Amino acid sequence: MIRKRNAILRSPEWVIIGIGANLGAPRVMIETALKELSEIAMNEVVCSSIWKSEASGMDGDDFANAVAKFEFNESPHNLLGKLQSIEAKYGRAPDHGHHTPRTLDLDIIAFGDQQISEVNLCIPHPHAAQRLFVLLPLREVDPNFRFFDQPKSLDELIERAERLRIEKWED
Ligand code: ADP
Ligand code: MG
Repeated sequence: MIRKRNAILRSPEWVIIGIGANLGAPRVMIETALKELSEIAMNEVVCSSIWKSEASGMDGDDFANAVAKFEFNESPHNLLGKLQSIEAKYGRAPDHGHHTPRTLDLDIIAFGDQQISEVNLCIPHPHAAQRLFVLLPLREVDPNFRFFDQPKSLDELIERAERLRIEKWED
């Protein structure tokens, strides 16, 4: 086996990635992102449906959202770096604050059972457990998923999440 330089291989962890896009052709962007994720995953990528959600708290077109789950055998920081390279490749719009319109947003929702609280990396993702556009696709790929240190099931979190317009993307 050829080891990549700088990539210290570790035992694989299941990771959950939240994907969002609302500029250009968002649905196509999600499918492209899923192909890119399959390049960094150890094995197959389990994908949710693509969902359409309102751009809450900002002006702008609806978002396309999805969640992917796969095994990864490098560090959380390496994963963040790889996700940021993919975002950059597709011309992510300049960052004007959180949850702003962008070509592609890739968030690490969970990395095994790890908990990380650093300025540039918080895992589990701090808002994921309140966001329907994460919770609904996440329930499709992993119905029994529980956030680290969070007693509530996905069904309970979905019940309590802030209401927003969201549906499966049918067209
Ligand atoms: P949001 O996804 O909440 O809308 P942004 O994507 O605009 O926010 O935030 C980008 C920044 O978030 C990056 O600089 C990255 O370092 C940081 N960040 C912290 N935790 C995570 C995480 N779990 N996944 C992805 N980015 C994260
Ligand atoms: Mg992000």
